[in-house]
Amino acid sequence: MSTHHGAGSVSASEQVIYGHQLPKRAPDAAFIANQTGKIDVAMIALVGCWGCTLSFLDMDERLLTLLDKVTIHRSSLTDVKRIPVRCTIGFVEGGVASEENIETLEHFRENCDILISVGACACWGGVPALRNLEPLADCLEEAYIKSPTAVAGAIPIIPNHPDLPKITTKVYPNHEVVKIDYFIPGCPPDGDAIAKVLEDLVNGRPVDLPAQINRYD
Ligand code: SF4
Repeated sequence: MSTHHGAGSVSASEQVIYGHQLPKRAPDAAFIANQTGKIDVAMIALVGCWGCTLSFLDMDERLLTLLDKVTIHRSSLTDVKRIPVRCTIGFVEGGVASEENIETLEHFRENCDILISVGACACWGGVPALRNLEPLADCLEEAYIKSPTAVAGAIPIIPNHPDLPKITTKVYPNHEVVKIDYFIPGCPPDGDAIAKVLEDLVNGRPVDLPAQINRYD
């Protein structure tokens, strides 16, 4: 993609840290309501901490009820690592920080009808996006050359093997890479918020995330 480059090719405009831009979009309730049988769901995790994935488990017994209506394919909960069928709903934890993340997210977009960014990292970059405040070269030098945890006597080196995923110059929220249909903010979002969005979609209702389960004060 022309807007995502490795170290050394950043332009001034790419140094801008984007805010939490939430595109407005009408819900796909009618589309979901027309589904027959169980709804196919998948999840991927990009650059995050797995905390949002754990919030899925906070749905507790509601998850069992939902399993009557959905089949969970690729996810860290099922340990299925590929999408065996096209999925209606895809959840994404984490943002984009490498060329591999871009490839994974684009493939997921191509194979899911509805894509949902889950959590602060997915919605606006979150904690990993703090590195956007400094040039990538400085971040790598701090991590690998000046690191206080470096092994004494070892030759300091920044990993650059061709088999390693190429790091992007900044961390991107997912909607700057592919179209995202819904956003569930929070770090992590409450299990109630994830359950509400999922229940609305599988029951063919407009997605409505009330403030009482989506506030952090
Ligand atoms: S939003 Fe918070 S809980 Fe979720 S992956 Fe990012 S850091 Fe972890």
